[in-house]
Amino acid sequence: MKSMMIHKPGELSLIERDVPTPDANEVLIEVKASGICGTDLHIYKGEYLGSYPVIPGHEFAGVVTAIGSGVTRFKVDDRVAVEPNIACDNCSHCLNNRQNFCENWQAVGVTLPGGMEQFVCAPEKAVFSIGDLAFEQGAFVEPLSCVIHGIERARIKLADKVAILGAGPIGNLLLQMARLQGASNVTMLETNPGRIELARTLGADTVVSRMEDLPQNEFDVVIDATGAIPVMNRTIDFARRGGTVLLFGVPPSGKTLELDAFKIFQKGLILLSSFTSVRNSIQAVRLLQSGEVKVESLISHRLPLEDLLVGLELMDKRDPGVKKVMILPNG
Ligand SMILES: [Zn+2]
Ligand SMILES: [Zn+2]
Repeated sequence: MKSMMIHKPGELSLIERDVPTPDANEVLIEVKASGICGTDLHIYKGEYLGSYPVIPGHEFAGVVTAIGSGVTRFKVDDRVAVEPNIACDNCSHCLNNRQNFCENWQAVGVTLPGGMEQFVCAPEKAVFSIGDLAFEQGAFVEPLSCVIHGIERARIKLADKVAILGAGPIGNLLLQMARLQGASNVTMLETNPGRIELARTLGADTVVSRMEDLPQNEFDVVIDATGAIPVMNRTIDFARRGGTVLLFGVPPSGKTLELDAFKIFQKGLILLSSFTSVRNSIQAVRLLQSGEVKVESLISHRLPLEDLLVGLELMDKRDPGVKKVMILPNG
């Protein structure tokens, strides 16, 4: 089968390797749609966790083509998505329902072979049925799970005013989830004209294109969905006194924030971050199936497997038309 391997930061190529055989507790999946995430770009550039070489791709869906002898929930031809974080279920974090901080954490597409190849093996406990969802919708189960986890941490209340900085695919998922949580007003910050239009369509009340146009001391909850340090540095200005700031976007590793410490104290802010998800895949599947969260309009490009580098470069250049880039490893 064909696989796209990142040999080391900045070095990506198409390789051929054998289709893996599932172990007793594993499911073999033919990958139908595999979304490129900002994290994949970080991995490609050497700005994230993970070991090299690695086959990236942690947002994917496909069809079960083989199962191990111990697998009970799936059969061949089932349509599935994968929760990429594999926890040991036996360390102190796992035993306290904090599987995202598992001491023996592994992740499909980060430390284990991911969805940027034609077939992937995953443990049964990390596989979820998507029913009749389109595979491209199924590829959003993972990012939506992370968004659900973040939104639950932010505790948006009925009628809250929410600001979301960045209207990429993640910002637009956060927007829809903030609405579902009962926000009365969602204001977004985005410079890219195509994304501004999309955010309006998906329910943003106001989209501003300059940080200066975002009102200060205004919002109950401010969420950064850019991972860009200069934007993250400003989040505390927009929260009201006693408000909440959620740093959701993934920044490059090794970079430092500059926050006005006295302002945080004086405003009595709650500062939060959010790392991956904790058992949110079933919620994500249900919200996609019910149509409460819409993802079709978040996809801008569909590329064959061998064009993964083209997709990564499209994202890196922040081209106006680029939203979620889907890789279709099996044509
Ligand atoms: Zn991701
Ligand atoms: Zn563990």
